[in-house]
Amino acid sequence: MRWTERQAAMLAEMGIRVVASPDEEALEPVAVMAPEAVLHGSTPVTARSASPDPHPANVQPVAAAAPLVLRDRAPGIETMDWPALRDTVAGCTACKLCEGRTQTVFGIGHPRAHWMVVGEAPGEQEDRLGEPFVGKSGQLLDNMLRAIGLSRDESGAEGEAARQVYIANTVKCRPPFNRNPEPAELAQCEPFLVRQIQLVQPRIILAMGRFAVQSLLRSTEPIGRLRGRVHRYEGVPLVVTYHPAYLLRNPEDKARAWDDLCLAREAMAAEPG
Ligand code: SF4
Repeated sequence: MRWTERQAAMLAEMGIRVVASPDEEALEPVAVMAPEAVLHGSTPVTARSASPDPHPANVQPVAAAAPLVLRDRAPGIETMDWPALRDTVAGCTACKLCEGRTQTVFGIGHPRAHWMVVGEAPGEQEDRLGEPFVGKSGQLLDNMLRAIGLSRDESGAEGEAARQVYIANTVKCRPPFNRNPEPAELAQCEPFLVRQIQLVQPRIILAMGRFAVQSLLRSTEPIGRLRGRVHRYEGVPLVVTYHPAYLLRNPEDKARAWDDLCLAREAMAAEPG
């Protein structure tokens, strides 16, 4: 497959430079050059085995399992429709993250998108605007999605679902000073994400960052050991990749993130129906 000019431009926006390959048929290893990642050749390179994470400090194991004390949740989350779920999240005070938020950050995108992106927790700009993945990391995510022909359009046109994403975070309120969400906060907020996934019924899930991975896969493994293969969440193929905010700090891993996108695209294409 050759890169189109548009794809090459998108990859360039993502910080990945496509260079000519001496052999168009050959799959070449991804070469990484700081500060830009470089893809050799015109064929996407897909990772089939997990590679060690070069930044183990970025992915910490889940905290030792102390008993979680959870507050009462809103009843009936598991049967709510979109409006009820959105209203319930907006009024939720089930964990202490409600105390510092400007507003909840529910999610955005096509309500029946074939692709679902699950991130971590809202940051300062998300908290202010009420939308996940805004600012520089949002721009990078949008560029990554556009590179494979996807967008986050909320119009909901039925025929567009295959090219749309729904984006949600693991917790819906910003942790103060952008600290990591605590295990009790993740657990308290989890039913909202579970219901969002049930309503979207995605055909592929991209789990971005360790908190998304911890929630969806119940795994303490570093991202570097989980990416590069297809997992399952309630039967839905799930691919693990780096969070865009991490990629902004570590641009040498953008080529790995591109591998993950290609793997997700292949996994979805392999699904029946
Ligand atoms: S983070 Fe989730 S559980 Fe906690 S207050 Fe916000 S919406 Fe409710």
